[in-house]
Amino acid sequence: MINLKKFYPVQTWSDNKILRTKSKKIDSINQDILEFAETLMELMYEYDWVWLAAPQLWRNIRMIAITFWKENKKWSERIDEDIMINPEITEKSKEMSISKEACLSVPNVIWKVKRHQNIVVEYLDIFGRKKKKKLRNYNAFIVQHEIDHLDAILFVDKLIK
Ligand SMILES: [Zn+2]
Repeated sequence: MINLKKFYPVQTWSDNKILRTKSKKIDSINQDILEFAETLMELMYEYDWVWLAAPQLWRNIRMIAITFWKENKKWSERIDEDIMINPEITEKSKEMSISKEACLSVPNVIWKVKRHQNIVVEYLDIFGRKKKKKLRNYNAFIVQHEIDHLDAILFVDKLIK
């Protein structure tokens, strides 16, 4: 098996041109997009199911790879994963929650960030089907973090003292 991490090094914020550029909407799910989705998913697996956004892989397109975790068993039980194309948060709770975050693109920083506790996210899957998910707590924070990447925002912009 080829070493994907070597062929697709994750961009870090020291060379942050792409991370600091707003990503474009995907108009058509063509072969190129499908191949990139597969790479993103495989890399997520290689990085032990840590989530990824396309700009971290040097492309400014609106695509993220998400692993969903069982509530309160963050690191022990993976329940599902998906590629989200053009994800949009269509509802968010007023309640906010503070938790610690990290990011492959910002090495050696783990710090507290405030996020909406519940969200509804709508997106297309790789087959172009519309999907809608209600997410809570940890799974909601992850999706907010990854969609921020598409809008050129890094979690270090939101650190709480
Ligand atoms: Zn990140």
